[in-house]
Amino acid sequence: MEKEQQKRYRAWAEIDLDALAQNVHAVQQVLPAHTQFMAVVKANAYGHGDEAVCRKLWTLGVRWYAVSNLEEALAVRHYCPYGEIFILGYTPPEFAPELARNNIIQGVLSLDYARQLQQFAHQPVRCHIKLDTGMGRIGFRGDSTQAYLEQILPMFQLDRLSVEGLYTHFAVADDSASENIAYTQHQEAQILAVYDALSEQGHRLKHLHFMNSAASVLRPNPRATLARVGIVMYGLEPNYPEHVPIALHPVMSLRSVVSHVKTVEPGACISYGRTYTAQTPRTIATVTIGYADGYARLLSNRAEAIVHGVRCPIVGRVCMDQLMLDVTDCPTAVQPGDVVTMFGCDGDAQITADELAHLYGTIGYEIVCGISKRVPRDVRGQI
Ligand SMILES: *Cc1c(COP(=O)(O)O)cnc(C)c1O
Repeated sequence: MEKEQQKRYRAWAEIDLDALAQNVHAVQQVLPAHTQFMAVVKANAYGHGDEAVCRKLWTLGVRWYAVSNLEEALAVRHYCPYGEIFILGYTPPEFAPELARNNIIQGVLSLDYARQLQQFAHQPVRCHIKLDTGMGRIGFRGDSTQAYLEQILPMFQLDRLSVEGLYTHFAVADDSASENIAYTQHQEAQILAVYDALSEQGHRLKHLHFMNSAASVLRPNPRATLARVGIVMYGLEPNYPEHVPIALHPVMSLRSVVSHVKTVEPGACISYGRTYTAQTPRTIATVTIGYADGYARLLSNRAEAIVHGVRCPIVGRVCMDQLMLDVTDCPTAVQPGDVVTMFGCDGDAQITADELAHLYGTIGYEIVCGISKRVPRDVRGQI
């Protein structure tokens, strides 16, 4: 962000498109040759801003985009007029004509839902069949390949559905515990068996997909025609503090500014609830970011932020629009207007969204998705 413009903002999220490109390439290196990259750009590209992310991905040669709902699909259709857009979740069947008109592919989660789509559609709706092989969220469920087939086969009688693919979602592909590896293997074996049985019945579907980020890098399977890649594309770990075997470059950095600096005497309290009391004279900087920006209140007295390349602890409770940092150990004087890095790099210091998430029992996904609308996204790099 330009210096002048930066001054107008209390907090902003830098989006590094070169890091995005590096992550996409790193995943493509480990994907089997004919497995295409499907970029998961739901939830405003995990909070990064779907416009810049989609336009960049298009120039990188990515042709498949996955979203969670019709609203997001239509946004992506605007950014990538010729992309293949896939809705992972539910669309009310009344919108079948809108799906068809915009050439959007819908996940179909049950036979009842398939029949409803058929009822509302005027022209064929492209779809992929979703199997619930163990996630327990959406999809056809069955305890045998035969049981799946009995539910799926009637779909092929529906003339306003164009069934083009089969997919499922893994529950624990990010976990290295042996029982979880076995669970994922079982999910994978089940979808492959259903796919092959459908082929034997004459329904050779064009697409088969089941890998998320973790599976794409940990157990890439050449039978998949598409890999649905989300979190690692944004440079975060699927299961921090475990590390995936590719280099990740975080795409989002969150920055704010110092508004006020003061020295306090021993016994001085900082912020709501008096949860922090200075034991010795401290230099305290107030920063213009808070939980309304998506910086969690649970990070009060727990996290650090970087000022002048040095990690400094948050003291007292995080407020709605502000928080306080103890900058006593900063070797250079901190002044109003100085930039504070909540996560990202500054000099040799780095804080990742994964690290922050781990401090209060959540995942990096939730942090980047939760950076609120009032935080402008400052896109860096060529599209
Ligand atoms: C969100 C989502 C993904 C992407 O998961 P990551 O762990 O971010 O790679 C893939 N498939 C489905 C069905 C999803 O909902």
